[in-house]
Amino acid sequence: MSVKESKDFKVAILGGGMGGLCLAVGLLKSGIKIDVFEQAEAFGEIGAGIGIGPNGIQALRKLGVLDEVLRISDEPLAMRTFIFKSGLPDHSLIYDYPGMETDLGLGVHRARFLDTFIQLLPPEVAHFNKKCLKVLADDDGATAFFEDGSSHTADIVIGCDGIKSVTRTAVLGKVIEPKFSGTIVFRGLIPIDAGVKAIGPDILDRPHGYMGPNKHIIVFPINSQETVNVVVFSTRTPNADQLGPQSGQPWVIPSTQAEMLSHYEGWGPQVVDLLNNITSPSKWFLHMLDPPLETYVNGNVAILGDAAHGMLPHMGSGAGQAIEDAYILSELLSLPQTTKRNLKLVLKAYDYVRRPRANKVLTRSRDVGEIYEFRGPSGDNQTGIRKDLENMWSFVWHHDLGDDVRTATEYLEEISAQSPSPQHRISSL
Ligand SMILES: Cc1cc2nc3c(=O)[nH]c(=O)nc-3n(C[C@H](O)[C@H](O)[C@H](O)COP(=O)(O)OP(=O)(O)OC[C@H]3O[C@@H](n4cnc5c(N)ncnc54)[C@H](O)[C@@H]3O)c2cc1C
Repeated sequence: MSVKESKDFKVAILGGGMGGLCLAVGLLKSGIKIDVFEQAEAFGEIGAGIGIGPNGIQALRKLGVLDEVLRISDEPLAMRTFIFKSGLPDHSLIYDYPGMETDLGLGVHRARFLDTFIQLLPPEVAHFNKKCLKVLADDDGATAFFEDGSSHTADIVIGCDGIKSVTRTAVLGKVIEPKFSGTIVFRGLIPIDAGVKAIGPDILDRPHGYMGPNKHIIVFPINSQETVNVVVFSTRTPNADQLGPQSGQPWVIPSTQAEMLSHYEGWGPQVVDLLNNITSPSKWFLHMLDPPLETYVNGNVAILGDAAHGMLPHMGSGAGQAIEDAYILSELLSLPQTTKRNLKLVLKAYDYVRRPRANKVLTRSRDVGEIYEFRGPSGDNQTGIRKDLENMWSFVWHHDLGDDVRTATEYLEEISAQSPSPQHRISSL
């Protein structure tokens, strides 16, 4: 993608994960000058699958990259509504999530998803081995300081640096540590034949969830249906106080099949078959921002994706929210009336429209995890669980991002008119 400059400002993006790269591509398409700073030596993802719902698909389409994502990932769009079964030996049906024909989503290997965006970035905008230690804002812009002693100043800095974000400190004025949720997760990929043998051919068409007391499992095919992504959760086991990471321990570590199986004694044959196929799972300590943040922006600095709303993965919606952030922010920064002079107000408009929605997805994701594991408000009986889960994805999936851009633009007009500083007013509105 060639960079044709169209604006009088430049943007520094900290972190080149899903959110950062979506934002980079969105801004480049409008000719906005960017630099992306990534702590790793290359862009990349820990190998595992990810589900993108209809709202994420809508955002990718509006960013103009959906066809490319589908081509590079070699995955079809499909209606991917869940079948939820009991994980206990009878495997009875608990909830068959109803879908509409327009509810099209994608199950994809994360690395393949990211490849699309990497290919669209001109090499000169990407800077690797750049671990940001802190961000400082002043009246005219913001500066990121890196571990190697270097620094970079831009008109705005957008922290896409994940759940352990350092940019968040510049936005909130204090360190906000994500909280351990009490849940660990084992992740593994297994061949499709093994998935079909364990669950039956249904797994080719529908993602599956297995529920039970204090544990649940999510299963769906990826890689053109060659592989099954298995995500195995465990919460508050009898060793609950030993579940969390030790101080200073990484949040993702290698585990063993024996450790994973020890959490699932007494579960049904479909579950045990699945787990027997995962020989070397990775183990993740799940954290979230709790309570949700009160702002995503401060002056010329903003945060996006997990940095702003790191959530539990129970609705498979974290990446979708990061992609929505990236779309809305790139639209606002591309408006004809956006210039260096009104960037702070533009970031406020981003916060105004994105924060309530992403924070709602965050809290609902936590609540849904409780329901999956039989701790929901209507109890552990199947009728109660069905009631608590009813249409749970509707507000996430059926949402018009074009409306959000309009709302944010109107809000920008409003706050521009009220702005005491004439340089913040937007003459062309
Ligand atoms: C078990 C599990 C399953 C999930 N499944 C789904 C799913 O099915 N669907 C879904 O939508 N979401 C899912 N999610 C959530 C999803 O993975 C995240 O919401 C998404 O990856 C967030 O993207 P991000 O770009 O904000 O952060 P990240 O993907 O974490 O990217 C952050 C980037 O910033 C870099 N970085 C970090 N700190 C610095 C620094 N100081 N300086 C420079 N660079 C830095 C990192 O190296 C990384 O490249 C799941 C999460 C988990 C844990």
